[in-house]
Amino acid sequence: MTARGERVAQVASYGGDVARCGLVAPASTDELADVLARASGAGRRITFRGGGCAFDTQSLNRDLVVSLDRLRGLRFSAGATRVAAGAGEPWGELVRAAHLRGRMPPVVVTTAFASVAGTTSGLCVSRWTPVHGPDGDHVHAVELVTARGRRLRLTRDDAALPAVTGGLGYLGAITSVELALRPHAHDQVETRLVAAGGIGEVLAACAPGALPAGGEVTAYGALLPDLRRGMAFQSRHVSGQARRPFRAVHQPRSALRLLGELLLVTHAGTRLVGEIAYRLRGERHVDSLVDYTFFMDGDTRFRRLGRRLGLALRLVQQSFAVPVAAGHELIERARRVFDAAAVVPMFSDVLYCPADRALLSATHGMAGFIVSFAFSPRTRGRLARIERALRQLSRDCRALGGRVRLTKHVHADPDDLAAMYSATLPRFHQLKRALDPDGAIRNEFLERVFPSLAGRPTP
Ligand SMILES: Cc1cc2nc3c(=O)[nH]c(=O)nc-3n(C[C@H](O)[C@H](O)[C@H](O)COP(=O)(O)OP(=O)(O)OC[C@H]3O[C@@H](n4cnc5c(N)ncnc54)[C@H](O)[C@@H]3O)c2cc1C
Repeated sequence: MTARGERVAQVASYGGDVARCGLVAPASTDELADVLARASGAGRRITFRGGGCAFDTQSLNRDLVVSLDRLRGLRFSAGATRVAAGAGEPWGELVRAAHLRGRMPPVVVTTAFASVAGTTSGLCVSRWTPVHGPDGDHVHAVELVTARGRRLRLTRDDAALPAVTGGLGYLGAITSVELALRPHAHDQVETRLVAAGGIGEVLAACAPGALPAGGEVTAYGALLPDLRRGMAFQSRHVSGQARRPFRAVHQPRSALRLLGELLLVTHAGTRLVGEIAYRLRGERHVDSLVDYTFFMDGDTRFRRLGRRLGLALRLVQQSFAVPVAAGHELIERARRVFDAAAVVPMFSDVLYCPADRALLSATHGMAGFIVSFAFSPRTRGRLARIERALRQLSRDCRALGGRVRLTKHVHADPDDLAAMYSATLPRFHQLKRALDPDGAIRNEFLERVFPSLAGRPTP
């Protein structure tokens, strides 16, 4: 059975995987409910898609992909303390409209192109997470259409809300997200270097105790490719300061950033960029709010350009959450695992995240460091070595009491993932059975990561 408006299409992940599928983009919630009821009745395998920024294959499927891109719109409450955003609204538009009203969402993903429902489904974290937690903590309500076409409004009183935030769309299609907004009068961000040296020093500067009281300052770390040294930065919102752009990082449109992205594609270039960044480090930078917020769009711009030129630019990025005390050990083990595999991460960063309640969150009930490693493999052999190394590191992460985040790449054995999420997976499973009794919302990602949720026995 073909859905109304369905066409054959090729969809891609940000990491470079592609899948041929039937693609449908309903123009309204009614149309969406109808498409879903018919498709699940016909036994089709359904996946939802927003901005398509997922690194792994979370939003790919070889059967039916339902794009929520046409469900847009921003409705601000009186005083703009909240906004109800259509599922497909890109974060760039939301930030622009909120800022015009003197408001900002507390946590904003670093690409303007991700959709509001996509990041709600991924439970995204970002520069302000050390202070405000993951973005799902600021979701007041979502509107959901289940696989059978039933419409629900979930608020903070509903047990299903912490399953939908971070639930990667496996419980239904989000059509609208109601988010909290904070007063925000500034239009710049000041960034100061607060540590440069060994990993212990960097982690100490990123730990929650290192942040000044008041919630006005955040901190995060960047690690050098050798994973022995790094730098930590603090940022705060400011206005009226003379610009001192952090060109190589917080200026996504600068030529220097483009050159840096190009160099990061090779191991030698990666080491060179790391060394230059470390030796020529500046003490203080002032960037515009938008450039700072969406700084990863330097990477987006580079990859779009490269792929238009026919270059196969793969990207692998995996994030690990571990208790604060295990942060140093995880990075040490990563260094050994990557050395043994002869692979060099093109960038690695560290961010503190408070504990949260989302069922499939890597920081569910556990505050900790989120450590991310990104690679840009140019050959199949190197890609395979990276995937094997990440699988090994995932096992180490489990032994350290941590979890692999499900939002980025997930190269991990299903038994490790099942153990990491054992406290919350049964509850998610119950909700899956209640909201999607036919198991219609599933794809290869779910089968690989949580076979039990996809209706398959764990191998
Ligand atoms: C350049 C770049 C920067 C990034 N920066 C960050 C960052 O700072 N922090 C971070 O945590 N992540 C970051 N990410 C990851 C990204 O934010 C997440 O993958 C996010 O989920 C992508 O949202 P999307 O709309 O692009 O979703 P898609 O790729 O379209 O989908 C992502 C997931 O959400 C589901 N989904 C999408 N729309 C809906 C819907 N309407 N209803 C139900 N489920 C839906 C999909 O099924 C899939 O599981 C970044 C990615 C890129 C490419």
